[in-house]
Amino acid sequence: MSGAATGMRGQVRTVTGDVEPDALGTVNYHEHLFQRSPLLPGDDLDDEDASGREAAELRESGFATLVDATPLGLGRRPDAIRRISLATGLTVVMTTGAHRREHYAADHPLLTASEDDLAAAFLRDLTAGAAEGLAPDASAPEPDPEAGPEAAPRAGVLKVGLGYWRIDDAARRAISAVGAAHRDTGAPVMVHLEHGTAAHEALDALTAVGVAADRVALAHIDRNPDPGLHVELAARGAFLGYDGAARARDWPDSVLIDCLTEAARRGGADRVLLGGDVARATRYRAYGGIPGLRYLGDRFVPRLRDAAGDDVVDRILRRNPAAWLAWRV
Ligand SMILES: [Zn+2]
Repeated sequence: MSGAATGMRGQVRTVTGDVEPDALGTVNYHEHLFQRSPLLPGDDLDDEDASGREAAELRESGFATLVDATPLGLGRRPDAIRRISLATGLTVVMTTGAHRREHYAADHPLLTASEDDLAAAFLRDLTAGAAEGLAPDASAPEPDPEAGPEAAPRAGVLKVGLGYWRIDDAARRAISAVGAAHRDTGAPVMVHLEHGTAAHEALDALTAVGVAADRVALAHIDRNPDPGLHVELAARGAFLGYDGAARARDWPDSVLIDCLTEAARRGGADRVLLGGDVARATRYRAYGGIPGLRYLGDRFVPRLRDAAGDDVVDRILRRNPAAWLAWRV
């Protein structure tokens, strides 16, 4: 059953092919090159030239690899992501799976499809590419284990989105489908936590479908900047997704730096991942906004280095994402 995945266990699947984890270099674990959502009106990321310029700025700011965290049904544009990766030299890992309910129209197939159909679509996206639109039918291409760079770009991460203290029926089906696709491939899993809530519950639900906690990145856990909670989650083995810098309306970056540093000191240093999740055209310099994807490398990382030290920063930017992104069950 897992023939399409064997042979690459232990490697990372990028949009330009499979690579060894230590070839990734510095990793930004969470951004969006393209995204369209009813939740972000007027903030679409849909201009290939502009997204490419923003990606080039991210690379200049010190990142070699990016995880594009846009799942299915949100304007992800796999071919354009690959063109940007080839043009900029930025290694990109693409995401498949489903976001939380509010990102889709009520009758969207990602909310109504069966677990089996979702699992087939996610698996196809990981192994053959081309699950966009979620049409789980006979016309979909068969997975091609020999697919080279000419074939459709393939996803390297599975994602599911939860609501604010809510795991509803659609999320339960997506979790089951993510579990099935993970068991078959070993692809890593990202879970969107709304305001950092329901992290333990997300790990419980994923563990129940065969996804070990140490294969899971808890995205936005820093929107609940509670170091005690983060230490607990790290002790379960989960990766802590810090991706909320430059959100002064909520709290200054110093809160995140203090929280991260304490969580790292109390056992979480091997678990933290860092991303920007800027995600909106009005915050991308190439779309005319600020502060842009380069804020993280230019402004946040130097402060983190001062507070936590070079060794912790090296783990967060290189070793931890390499461990998370490598395919293994
Ligand atoms: Zn995001």
